[in-house]
Amino acid sequence: GRKEPADLNKLTGEYLLLAYHGIRGKDKSFNADLVTHLEEDLPNVPVVAQDIGRVLLNLYNNAFYAIQQKQKTAGADYQPCVEVRTMHRAGRVNICVKDNGTGIPEAIRDKIMQPFFTTKPTGEGTGLGLSLSYDIVVKGHGGSMIVDTRENDFTEFVIEIPI
Ligand code: ADP
Ligand code: MG
Repeated sequence: GRKEPADLNKLTGEYLLLAYHGIRGKDKSFNADLVTHLEEDLPNVPVVAQDIGRVLLNLYNNAFYAIQQKQKTAGADYQPCVEVRTMHRAGRVNICVKDNGTGIPEAIRDKIMQPFFTTKPTGEGTGLGLSLSYDIVVKGHGGSMIVDTRENDFTEFVIEIPI
């Protein structure tokens, strides 16, 4: 694919709904609050839109999966939520994806970006999502991808793409 100036607010919002409706198509009882903070007047960013779309879909699917897992043990007062945010600063656009699912245990944090690393049962995960996402963002777009998480509390991925 070729890089073309793209509206990352639009990509961020559209793929969130795509992922959410994808999950709900398989599990009608699944519900989560979707919170979006899309910065106004975000500059267009040169990206391969289809590739960034794959990154977003993977981050969203991981977030919804973590919420579904947490729901299995959480009490009735647990309110699943995925929060996405776009921000523009210092020649870069950030996209943050935060969920209040299982979080990532300390012991596996340095492994999650490795190809084929997954904690999901066969058929539910290939372990390629984050390594592919990392390649797309870092090698393909000169950006960065970082994660902040607390077990049983939240996970937040932040990707940065240079304008
Ligand atoms: P897959 O989704 O196929 O397992 P990924 O590369 O997308 O592969 O993710 C690797 C692993 O990282 C997951 O199996 C899971 O253990 C962990 N992970 C990724 N995102 C999250 C998240 N939002 N919450 C909890 N764990 C996560
Ligand atoms: Mg994944």
